[in-house]
Amino acid sequence: MARILIVEDEAPIGLGLEEDFRRQGHQAEIASDGEAGLRRGRSETWDLILLDIMLPKLDGFEVCRELRRAGVGTPILMLTARVQEAEKVLGLDLGADDYLTKPFGIHELRARVRALLRRAGGETRGVHRAGDCELDFDRAEARRSGSATELTAQEIRLLSVFLANQGRILSRSRLIELAWGTETHVSDRVIDTHVLNLRKKIEPDPAEPRHLVGVRGLGYRFDP
Ligand code: CA
Repeated sequence: MARILIVEDEAPIGLGLEEDFRRQGHQAEIASDGEAGLRRGRSETWDLILLDIMLPKLDGFEVCRELRRAGVGTPILMLTARVQEAEKVLGLDLGADDYLTKPFGIHELRARVRALLRRAGGETRGVHRAGDCELDFDRAEARRSGSATELTAQEIRLLSVFLANQGRILSRSRLIELAWGTETHVSDRVIDTHVLNLRKKIEPDPAEPRHLVGVRGLGYRFDP
């Protein structure tokens, strides 16, 4: 299940997309102008943003540029009614990940969405770093100064979420939602326990965490 923000001013298209995503098991919401899209794209965590180019108040290019400037790394799929090559290139230069020309078929859209969600690290692979610690997702281990510690499946899921949201504060409930899904009854304390265990595995000094940073009253932030 993914959280998808649809920034689209044409109600029939927006509602059609929302309905289709819901049927696919995703959670989708619509912002119907550029300002609303930028505000919601910045203030909440999304797995994917569908961004129309021709929008009231702020066009899709501006929204894309501002989101990237604000450090939002969410994959962006631009929807364009125009077919000029130059505009597609501009969108990609501004940090969009892919584009789709209107009118598009629902199957093509679904395929692009799946590809972007996969790429976005729903399944994190390979070796990533947190300071001098290597996080090896293929071998499920953390390596520091020559010694390896095993990572549990839950720790892997939690780390994937942190990696996909580097530098952003995530509340405990958001972490639960992203790592375990909305259907579970995991308590906030479980997150604290996992973070404590992860710190022992990846931090040079678990008492003074540099990578899994606690933000009082708000949650946690991952700084690589
Ligand atoms: Ca439009």
